[in-house]
Amino acid sequence: MKIGVLALQGDFREHIATLTSLGIDSYAVKTVEELTSVDALVIPGGESTTISKLAIAFGIMEPIRLRIAQGMPVYGSCAGMILLSKKIIDAASEQESFGGIDITVRRNAFGRQVDSFESKLVVKGIPGEPVQAIFIRAPWVESAGVDVEVLASVEIDGQSHPVAVRQNNALATSFHPEISGDSRIHRYFVEEICQPAVGK
Ligand code: GLN
Repeated sequence: MKIGVLALQGDFREHIATLTSLGIDSYAVKTVEELTSVDALVIPGGESTTISKLAIAFGIMEPIRLRIAQGMPVYGSCAGMILLSKKIIDAASEQESFGGIDITVRRNAFGRQVDSFESKLVVKGIPGEPVQAIFIRAPWVESAGVDVEVLASVEIDGQSHPVAVRQNNALATSFHPEISGDSRIHRYFVEEICQPAVGK
């Protein structure tokens, strides 16, 4: 099984390193040809507007949308979550998403005081200790369709905001497991989503 990591902008190298530490072959994907050669795709953290604009410029926006719609396993962290959403609140002009998860996300949702923070999170499907979650100008899920499973939420001012969600073959987290040294979210993606879908 080959997992691609979208390498237009953002922390794709950290995702590749995390997947490599799990013994998974992973590849930087920038072109349609490279996309064609992978079975699954990770969309990294970074700047979702920039990734969106580069994806359009590189002609890979529509091919990614199509692969996701056809059921390709996909995981997005932070900017990657924004890019997998159906609708973006506070989107930059001309910002587009790939879709894949029936969620509306709010960009930079946590506000100035907690712009960036770390938290221990219980994530459904991840056994053992809570996950060390690093949030950097992160989005949260404002609303989700009935087919979306919420795997983790953060409580802010008595309100619960989903920060890890799954819909079929698509997984997204507001936080960055690729920089925390904890590979359990990637392991979950590989074992629970990629391997069953790809059959390897
Ligand atoms: N705030 C960024 C955006 O809107 C996401 C930040 C991140 O990926 N750490 O794209």
